[in-house]
Amino acid sequence: MSEERALVVLSGGQDSTTCLYWAMKRFGPENVSSVTFDYGQRHGLELQCAARVAALAGVSNEVLPIDTFAALGGNALTDDEIDVQSDVAEQSGLPNTFVPGRNLIFLTFAAAYAYPREIRDLVTGVAQTDYSGYPDCRETTISALEVALNCGMEADFRIHTPLMHRSKRETVELARDLGALPAMALTHTCYNGQRPPCGHCPACQLRARGFREAGIADPLLDAT
Ligand SMILES: [Zn+2]
Repeated sequence: MSEERALVVLSGGQDSTTCLYWAMKRFGPENVSSVTFDYGQRHGLELQCAARVAALAGVSNEVLPIDTFAALGGNALTDDEIDVQSDVAEQSGLPNTFVPGRNLIFLTFAAAYAYPREIRDLVTGVAQTDYSGYPDCRETTISALEVALNCGMEADFRIHTPLMHRSKRETVELARDLGALPAMALTHTCYNGQRPPCGHCPACQLRARGFREAGIADPLLDAT
């Protein structure tokens, strides 16, 4: 490998879009590609957003299907019968938007996609600050997964998590510094799949707080 190349797991949301621009700066735009997982999320809008963001950034975007999460059921992001709630489940202490294993599977498939293409740098927008406490977004989980992938594929993958210790405010500031704000107008955050965003679901509220604290107008709200 003459040059490091990176694969970004792009969901079409604010965080992964910021990571795409981070990767373009770190590795050079010509060395970055992206994958988006069609995992049966209720809102196909996410896939469109990812495609638009990638097109604006001039980076390739491949959609890979994973239909098992919807078959498993039990969470509000893939099951139409379950409403998004802001309160947490008694049993697990997690919101019902938690899709068990999602990031583990995404990164494993991303690595499997990257492997034959000789890409060894994987980039994901997970963060353990300010979020819903999803255990698969924590640094310990990602570090352990990196070890597992490298053992299991006899490879030397590096999983980059540029947002891991950034607050939502700091993530917005990073997006600004990377020139990613125009792309933010194309992103999608709302758990209820609304555009313009609903403004009251947990994802909308978290996003709004980040922009407010950074003192930056959310380009998505201007665009819709
Ligand atoms: Zn919303």
